Amino acid sequence: VQLSGDNTSTSIDDLFIGVKSSGKFHKVRLPLLLDTWIPFARQATFLITDVDDEEVKAEFEPDHYHVSRCSSSHHRVGLVCKVSVAYDLYILKPRRWFCMADDDTYINIPNLVYTLAQYDHTKDWYIGKPSLKYPIRVNINNRKESFWFLTGGAGYCISQSLALKMIPYARGGKLRELANSIRIPDDVAVGYIINSILAVDITRVPTFHSHLEGLWRISPYQLKDQVTLSYGEFSSSGRRVTSNVVNTGGIIPTFPPPTDPTRLRSVHCYLYPNARECSRFGIA
Ligand code: UDP
Ligand code: MN
Repeated sequence: VQLSGDNTSTSIDDLFIGVKSSGKFHKVRLPLLLDTWIPFARQATFLITDVDDEEVKAEFEPDHYHVSRCSSSHHRVGLVCKVSVAYDLYILKPRRWFCMADDDTYINIPNLVYTLAQYDHTKDWYIGKPSLKYPIRVNINNRKESFWFLTGGAGYCISQSLALKMIPYARGGKLRELANSIRIPDDVAVGYIINSILAVDITRVPTFHSHLEGLWRISPYQLKDQVTLSYGEFSSSGRRVTSNVVNTGGIIPTFPPPTDPTRLRSVHCYLYPNARECSRFGIA
């Protein structure tokens, strides 16, 4: 880890956190984020979505709510378009860190800031968690390329130095064009540019988590140390589908499941009992 004295002053104002969402998730997924981590990071958070929604827009700072004009199309195509919009937005006024997350990602903001402060933003860093144990192999122009990428659902962060080096391949919608021409998802395209074209390695940080892993495996005692968490369905063996949520293990008081099916409100209120929306649910 590259420590730099200057970086110890990294604060939330040095982060750009792009969150991609979609109109169909505004009422289902965004309330959790708006009641938990977004109030810790309003000045850093930018929502990239696909519909006008005055109610949700009011929760974000001016110019932090973006309706992409590239959504209705194919799933993968719409998603990379949103990341491309976020990147172009970031590059207009590059902060120390460019981070992307999904709207089902919980971010422990103090932990994220503390983690990024350990790395020098003037060097090249691509930080997060890969979901594969091996480099992905992609057919590009009839050539098999293999490279690492970090899972979008776990959130990832790119240092300013590296984000600027991506400009020739990513700015002005080029990230979208590149991903669409090779037919790869947004996070894979980012990995392709960084790991394959720019030859910068991934930095695995085990405290980033997506719902592609078994979230119940995290010890309840260690939930406080994680940078990102998520929730979802988990299909082991590809057939049996169970709900994949963090395990509070009787250590963390939990809201009734209907109030908090993801368990993430409970975790958040356990960590930050004075936070907005925590008293409202009257946690035991
Ligand atoms: N998403 C989107 N448009 C869509 C479907 C998904 O912008 O049509 C976003 C969604 O809001 C989330 C991310 O893409 O931020 C991942 O979507 P989801 O969690 O549904 O899929 P998975 O995690 O299974 O990839
Ligand atoms: Mn998801």
